[in-house]
Amino acid sequence: MILGIESSCDESALALLDRSKGIVGEWISSQVSLHAEYGGVVPELASREHLKNFAPLLRELRKQSSFAEIDEIVVTAGPGLAGCLAMGIAVANALSTSLGVPVYAVNHLRAHAQSVFIDRHSDRPSEFESELERMLPHLSLIVSGGNTLLACIGKDRTIKLIGETIDDAAGEALDKGAKLLGLGYPGGPKLEAVAKSGNPKKYEFPRALMQKANFDFSFSGLKTSLRYLLEGISGSDLDQRLPDICSSYQEAVVDALIRKTAKALGDSDYLSVGLSGGVSNNRSLRQRFQNMAKRLNVTPLLARKEHTGDNAGMIAFSRIFEDPGNADTKIDIVPGARITQRF
Ligand code: AMP
Ligand code: MG
Repeated sequence: MILGIESSCDESALALLDRSKGIVGEWISSQVSLHAEYGGVVPELASREHLKNFAPLLRELRKQSSFAEIDEIVVTAGPGLAGCLAMGIAVANALSTSLGVPVYAVNHLRAHAQSVFIDRHSDRPSEFESELERMLPHLSLIVSGGNTLLACIGKDRTIKLIGETIDDAAGEALDKGAKLLGLGYPGGPKLEAVAKSGNPKKYEFPRALMQKANFDFSFSGLKTSLRYLLEGISGSDLDQRLPDICSSYQEAVVDALIRKTAKALGDSDYLSVGLSGGVSNNRSLRQRFQNMAKRLNVTPLLARKEHTGDNAGMIAFSRIFEDPGNADTKIDIVPGARITQRF
């Protein structure tokens, strides 16, 4: 049994993964409401909160399962907030010492990319290896609050970066837009709720870098163009136009993501395409992603709700998906880790 531990940002999470059964339990404690009043994650508060949250999560785990069944521990070592990563690693080291089992470091971004395969493994663990043959090479789109990138997982499971945002992440663009519109935090889901009744074609927001030959994204111009638009609108008028503005703004983000992903799919022979990260909760993005994959004849793999945002299931699963680095060595925190980095 593998114990996964995640604490890179504002989620403290544990997961137990049985190699022959898949994930058997997940426990998560989110800090979203704590940070809401500051309009974003406060690193110092976040790390203190992990300190409080892990003990109750471990007690919950022990109600359902015995620590004696755990034979290895995997923990996020980066990227993430340094103080937060340190908390998860401290828990991992303490358990590793007391249980006498090895501990491995996992790259959080690689785990996000791999998370779309979790259900395939859980459904039929014994057939996973042969099923994977039919899904690689795979194109991964990771869209979260801190990252937006396209990566290729090759037949040999090596990961190559194809493109990434040169400024804001997609989730950051949604959060900043929602803040300008006074919708609160986290902005992505709030914006989505208002956008539902709006017209996505009403306002023309920029889609940056679309003519460029590369697969990079840029979202910083989007919030600037929203700010200019808002300067010309009075308060009472804004209420009435809000659904159309939200819908058009969200559409600009989704459209840029889909167009670049489609372009990357056309550039090489991929057998599947995956969508993961917190922004992949967005219904419009999920729908368009699936339509695009169908049109291009590639199998779409979408992370299920529990595995879109930060979670420990994907950290445990990463141990199944790729050979780990060295066990029992000192685990360093790597706050700025790139997806290409293996620990
Ligand atoms: P993560 O960084 O993976 O924890 O994901 C958090 C990011 O996902 C934040 O920027 C949220 O605003 C965004 N997000 C969460 N749910 C949605 C949604 N339904 N639509 C758009 N963005 C979302
Ligand atoms: Mg994440």
